[in-house]
Amino acid sequence: MNLILLGPPGAGKGTQAQRLERAHGLVQLSTGDMLRAAVAAGTEVGKRAKEVMAAGGLVSDDIVVGIIADRIAQDDCKNGFILDGFPRTVAQAEALDTMLAERGMKLHHVIDMQVDDEILVERVSGRYTCAKCNAGYHDKFHQPKVAGVCDICGSTEFKRRADDNAETVRSRLEAFHAQTAPLLPYYESKGVLGTVDGMAAIDEVTRQIEAVLGFATA
Ligand code: ADP
Ligand code: ADP
Ligand code: ZN
Repeated sequence: MNLILLGPPGAGKGTQAQRLERAHGLVQLSTGDMLRAAVAAGTEVGKRAKEVMAAGGLVSDDIVVGIIADRIAQDDCKNGFILDGFPRTVAQAEALDTMLAERGMKLHHVIDMQVDDEILVERVSGRYTCAKCNAGYHDKFHQPKVAGVCDICGSTEFKRRADDNAETVRSRLEAFHAQTAPLLPYYESKGVLGTVDGMAAIDEVTRQIEAVLGFATA
């Protein structure tokens, strides 16, 4: 099964993608994670993306489409993938349609994760991740079970993103409303759009997504 998690910064896309990956063996494809890795490695793509990301704008369509095209061609995507943070423009969605059609693949579900803007600033400002396995946490909403120790891998080192500050979040929200929100009618018209309440508790959001996907829940 191939799906897209669609929502503004802080909606919970990464959190839910990681859960679906662990529970259902789908591969998480996060363009944000891939771009951050490229910036850290200082590759040509990283050099082109760095400043735009720091300002909270969108990296050009040709860069992210190229990254995803390479990634989807890899073997581990055959059993299904979760796109997290891609597509973010109609041009990216059209490019995705083309690359899937070329490979005889299709999109099964697009999940609209609805969260009000006022909540997102607090979500993003309190976000941190495990430095080793990238599991996501939050200062207030999702702390590790044992303070300072990653639930998943036991690491005691964590990191925060440079762009997760209140000022950049506002630019990212503007980019979402102007460039990404038009994807909702795009996918609605294709009959693949499902909606969940992204403001519910993390477990409840997972339950709602699994219901849309038709997975039995415990
Ligand atoms: P996105 O990938 O959409 O930007 P994340 O999954 O990184 O969002 O979530 C943003 C922050 O909010 C993280 O710190 C995460 O722990 C927290 N979070 C995610 N989902 C919820 C939720 N349903 N309720 C409260 N906090 C959440
Ligand atoms: P969030 O989970 O908070 O929405 P991401 O990690 O998905 O943030 O993305 C971080 C930044 O990387 C974005 O603000 C943007 O600059 C860039 N980016 C990620 N995915 C895309 C994309 N599909 N198109 C353009 N830029 C992207
Ligand atoms: Zn970890």
